[in-house]
Amino acid sequence: MIDTNCLFCKIISGDIPGTIVYRDEQTTAFRDINPVAPTHILIVPNRHIESVATLEEADEALMGHLFTVARGLAENEGINKRGYRLITNHGADGGQTVFHLHLHLIGGQRMKHPMG
Ligand code: AMP
Ligand code: ZN
Repeated sequence: MIDTNCLFCKIISGDIPGTIVYRDEQTTAFRDINPVAPTHILIVPNRHIESVATLEEADEALMGHLFTVARGLAENEGINKRGYRLITNHGADGGQTVFHLHLHLIGGQRMKHPMG
């Protein structure tokens, strides 16, 4: 369930401090330590899942829940009307640096296009 070498597992367990903005039985959300916009929150499953590439069908409800949590946090942050971006990175080309699946909730400014 918990990977003892994983940074985000340590934030979830409280071994490493994080600015936690939401928590329930399945998910934890905390502010990114290096925000790229006024709102930059990471939403993670409490169970260690490496990335979207290791998801299983049994995780579908959990992934839907992450999105519902993201929607609620966007409302709390007051960015839901103007809009925001949700991102999950996988692997080297995706730019993943922490290998515990997370959604980036980014908003509070106009995002740049095109992506990539
Ligand atoms: P990714 O590149 O998609 O794997 O995103 C990892 C994110 O984790 C980056 O945006 C980092 O700024 C963020 N991050 C790294 N260490 C911490 C930490 N201790 N607390 C909060 N966010 C972190
Ligand atoms: Zn982990």
